[in-house]
Amino acid sequence: MLQTYIDTEYAPEKCFHCNGTGHVNGKICEVCGGQGDVLVAQPAIVCPLCNGSGIFDNGTCRVCGGSGWALL
Ligand SMILES: [Zn+2]
Ligand SMILES: [Zn+2]
Repeated sequence: MLQTYIDTEYAPEKCFHCNGTGHVNGKICEVCGGQGDVLVAQPAIVCPLCNGSGIFDNGTCRVCGGSGWALL
């Protein structure tokens, strides 16, 4: 069994794409998979491109994938 040491902590944060509901327009949110939250490296940083809205240029933010959090 391969084990990789990971020193980064992850914690679930609210998915801004669906506003934490897990659904967008009656469909399961693609960003969080319907969970309503996404795993984000801690300390969580709001996506600098969309300012946490998950939307950029009227489309899904490419940096955060719509989650509203900086994932890297
Ligand atoms: Zn979502
Ligand atoms: Zn973003």
